[in-house]
Amino acid sequence: MPSTSLIRGEVAALPPYDPGADPDEVAALSGSRRVVKLSNNESPFGASPAVAEAVRKALAHGVSRYPDPTGRRLAEAIGTSLDVPADRVVLGNGSENLLELLCRAVLDPGDLVVTQAPGFSLHETFPRVMGARVHKVPVTAGFGCDADAWRDALAQGPKLVFLANPCNPTGAMLDAGELARIVTALPASALLVLDEAYGEFARYRPDYPDGLEALRGLGRPWIVLRTFSKAYGLAGVRVGYGIASDPALARALDRVRTPYNVNHPAQEAAIAALGDRAHLAETVRRTALEIARVADRLGEAGLRVVPSSANFLFIDTGRPADRVARELHRAGIIVKAWREPGYETYIRASLSTSGDNDVFVRCLTGICAKDKP
Ligand SMILES: *Cc1c(COP(=O)(O)O)cnc(C)c1O
Repeated sequence: MPSTSLIRGEVAALPPYDPGADPDEVAALSGSRRVVKLSNNESPFGASPAVAEAVRKALAHGVSRYPDPTGRRLAEAIGTSLDVPADRVVLGNGSENLLELLCRAVLDPGDLVVTQAPGFSLHETFPRVMGARVHKVPVTAGFGCDADAWRDALAQGPKLVFLANPCNPTGAMLDAGELARIVTALPASALLVLDEAYGEFARYRPDYPDGLEALRGLGRPWIVLRTFSKAYGLAGVRVGYGIASDPALARALDRVRTPYNVNHPAQEAAIAALGDRAHLAETVRRTALEIARVADRLGEAGLRVVPSSANFLFIDTGRPADRVARELHRAGIIVKAWREPGYETYIRASLSTSGDNDVFVRCLTGICAKDKP
């Protein structure tokens, strides 16, 4: 019997996760040793210097012991920094892990999940693994929130609602009023998951609603997800966290996770990163400057760029994005060509240092000038 006949139908039907092109392959293809990787929204400014020291100490301490399964010190540090009790904090191996745990804890086959399109692939993949149905609410033509479409979708009675703010891949953010309208339309049956993977980049904006403040005292279940992968520059160590509306929800997620899901060096790295507010502030400041500069330059070259409150840009190249991405790969630059229906001419490019961004702008505008749509 072939092994494939053992695989559950829901799993066999899943598309593979698209991590973007492999840097080694792009290096070989382009003949350049220095590849500019703009495909995963990583921080070009790296982690706080305190992180390397914390990881070094964690490793020197020995790797033969299991990590703290409760992540107590990290949960307490997060709780203190946000002024929430540590028993409402839940840790994940990246916040992706928490998306998965939420699906495992909540979804029965046939349940409905509502999220946005274009959106983050795992907001769809993990529900489908559980046999849930996924309804994707399209954004408006201006990449805003379609309040009527959201109200109609929520009226269908979803069990889980995945909402990213700012949104990946568009970088657009919901303001306080838009978030409030969605929250008011939530049916009693729904758990709201507010995915703030890029929240640190938007928080300085006066109209960005901090999820914890917006949802406090809501009287229904919710969880805000955040991560050390993006603004803190720790994508490689895999730590994310959730702040749940109540301790019981956090404990339910604990029951469905592997007991040692966040390793010891990762816990120590996150504690160190959390303690360096200056590094975070500098990363956010420099990112905002570069986002504005690159968006302006691409706009001047005639490309449509979605206004971004995150650390990446969603760019309409006006021609098949796969073709543009291939050309960029030949130049040693990796971006993500978008594949969702209606967005096949878009690429998503993360911000890097200003030198790398200049190379990207020059190559992309050159490709678009040369290539007739
Ligand atoms: C990057 C990202 C995450 C999580 O990343 P982790 O590295 O797993 O913490 C979650 N949601 C969105 C929308 C993202 O873009």
